[in-house]
Amino acid sequence: CQVIPEKCVDCGECVEVCPVEALSSPKNTEEPAPITTPAKEVCMEQSTANQTNPAQEVAQLEGELGRYKGVWVFIEQREGHIAPVSLELLGAGRQLADKLGVELAGVLLGYNLSGLEASLYEYGADKVYLVDHPVLCYYRTETYMQVVGKLVQEYLPEIVLMGATTTGRDLAGAVATELATGLTADCTVLDIDQAKRLLLATRPAFGGNIMATIVAKKHRPQMATVRPKVMKMGDPVPGRQGVLVKPEVSLQEENLLTRVLEIVQEYGEQANLQDAEIIVAGGRGLGDKESFHKICGSLAEAIGGKVGGTRAAVEAGWLEQKYQVGQTGVTVAPKLYFALGISGAIQHLVGIRGSDIIIAINSDPEAPIFQECTYGIVGDALKIVPNLIKPLQVLLK
Ligand code: FAD
Repeated sequence: CQVIPEKCVDCGECVEVCPVEALSSPKNTEEPAPITTPAKEVCMEQSTANQTNPAQEVAQLEGELGRYKGVWVFIEQREGHIAPVSLELLGAGRQLADKLGVELAGVLLGYNLSGLEASLYEYGADKVYLVDHPVLCYYRTETYMQVVGKLVQEYLPEIVLMGATTTGRDLAGAVATELATGLTADCTVLDIDQAKRLLLATRPAFGGNIMATIVAKKHRPQMATVRPKVMKMGDPVPGRQGVLVKPEVSLQEENLLTRVLEIVQEYGEQANLQDAEIIVAGGRGLGDKESFHKICGSLAEAIGGKVGGTRAAVEAGWLEQKYQVGQTGVTVAPKLYFALGISGAIQHLVGIRGSDIIIAINSDPEAPIFQECTYGIVGDALKIVPNLIKPLQVLLK
């Protein structure tokens, strides 16, 4: 919206209520003008300044925006180990690039990474931009944002994808802000509107109750993040070759605002739920913390699984937030997922839909989890699980 200066009475009401702080008073007088027209509806009109007709849009795309070509995937690595989500995104990026008829490139930043690019070609990249520099040894928002931003401005990709990991979420937001472009976070589906060459980035919205497809019509690059395990990793093509580009960057440690003093590694059985092949997850239906750990822990231990839970279980203090599965937790894709005393709220289900087999135990036959699971058992999980342990151990041997 924009304020119609002739009709504005400078009441300031529109400025206060605008949710995106996009309005300001055009009069800017010290003394508020006397209110003569009460209706704020008549003092504002839909702005036409940014509206274009379809023909103009196409012309705009063919012009300024059309200079941007190619799909990029930011390759996340730690100590030379590529994050699986980056390989998953190369698969998704390959499909987007093929639909657009453009190159797929991986962007790899770090130190002493020579040779790491080979696997990126095998997973679908035509090109790899490798920036190997001591200052990039550990991830820092400041340095990575500067380098990725500079590469984008130099090589002009139309799409940039990143994993929705701790690093990827941080970097994507920083780069999008730096480049003043659009970013759609936590996408579950990526596609292309081929007529308009637009990225269609789909993600759950309004608490997971609707799927929203978001497009960035007027800015480039179009950026999106995707959580680990949401996209299936493609099969590598052994020996597939690509082009290595090594852009020069000038980075000085002494010019940076942050220093990495120490890296503290976290070890432990439970460390990474996302990579687990078997997950035993519990919900509020398990009653209390003691039963939760007795039931989930004993089953997980017996069959080599890891323990996860719902937000209700986390909020009750039964397990740490990092083991929460779902929309505001982790997305998982194990071979086997046990949902014990879990109702099956949509926010939980979006995090488990990549599982091969879901086994649910719930005392309520109407629980929504039974609409999603592969096998369902109606009954008391506290009584059923102890009787399942032995047969499952035999079965999974
Ligand atoms: P409940 O819904 O209370 O279900 C308990 C179930 O246990 C019931 O179905 C009951 O029939 C069954 N039960 C009871 N006793 C037994 C028994 N003895 N044996 C077997 N079954 C029994 N939730 C998540 O999990 N992950 C998220 O990431 C997440 N993000 C959210 C984000 C937003 C914005 C919002 C609004 C909510 C989010 N939630 C999330 C919360 C979600 O909506 C549900 O409230 C939550 O998943 C419910 O957890 P639950 O299934 O453990 O509990």
